[in-house]
Amino acid sequence: MSDQVFERQDFLSAIKNEEFKLAYQPQISLTTGEVVGIEALLRWEHPTKGWVSPADFIPMAEKTGAITDITKWVLKESCKQNKQWHDEGLQKAVISVNISPLDFEQNELYEVIMDTLEETGLAAHYLELEITENAVMSDISNVIYTLKKISKTGVRVAIDDFGKGNSTLVYMRDLPITTVKLDRSFMSDIPYSHKDSTIVKNIIQMCHNLDLQIIAEGVETEEVVTFLALHHCSVAQGFVFSKPMLSNDFEANITHYESKAIEMIYRLEEKV
Ligand code: C2E
Ligand code: MG
Ligand code: MG
Ligand code: MG
Repeated sequence: MSDQVFERQDFLSAIKNEEFKLAYQPQISLTTGEVVGIEALLRWEHPTKGWVSPADFIPMAEKTGAITDITKWVLKESCKQNKQWHDEGLQKAVISVNISPLDFEQNELYEVIMDTLEETGLAAHYLELEITENAVMSDISNVIYTLKKISKTGVRVAIDDFGKGNSTLVYMRDLPITTVKLDRSFMSDIPYSHKDSTIVKNIIQMCHNLDLQIIAEGVETEEVVTFLALHHCSVAQGFVFSKPMLSNDFEANITHYESKAIEMIYRLEEKV
């Protein structure tokens, strides 16, 4: 953690001065090798401090209330970009956006999302909201109400960092979710850790039984990809395919991600 301090005004002028950028990270199908999803991750190129990490500034954006303006910007920018990629025929993936718990307290998230989809022309089922378990801690009935309204339009809802927080099963039961993103802390020791491997296998199984898409986060090695594919995890995201990239680099590398994944799938089929 850095000791940098930012005020509300710093964030608002960063939006105005176009200091925020989005980095895109592919989510790859482990059956076809295709990019089926893309997570948009916020980057801040500060005029004097250089690149500041979201882990450092998002908490301050939340504390100062600037987060709702930031979320609005991220939604617009990422939906616009995804629509453009669809129109150019580059990919047909879902764009995934991280939503803060604070975004629910303003009671305008539904309207912001509807405006964004209308303005950008992106179809609702090509947008996914990533909610962390903490999101739900505050006013659960309000979060459920808002998410149900949003998900009725076709927008997808993912639980992010699944397994890291508390009470995940209750949220899995009560929220209108389409996707579970399995926290990266489970990935580093499979297939060697019996505990991690067993937990991952069983969560994948549970997601299948509940008709939920499962995305493994923080996948760094082919060994983990192999384990996940053998246990029918449908999608993986992580450095093994790509780090998050600014849009130009993402575009330039998209076929590279897919061929890398297809090669891994071939090698896997040779093994079994
Ligand atoms: P997250 O939503 O869980 O995003 C995944 C984080 O894991 C990203 O860090 C990504 O760069 C990193 N990652 C991806 N693959 C790997 C891997 O294979 N290994 C490892 N070690 N890490 C990997 P990043 O971009 O620094 O973002 C950190 C967190 O900041 C995000 O965690 C999210 O909670 C928050 N964040 C980022 N962008 C936004 C945003 O636009 N809005 C909000 N509210 N939060 C955001
Ligand atoms: Mg996320
Ligand atoms: Mg998150
Ligand atoms: Mg995550």
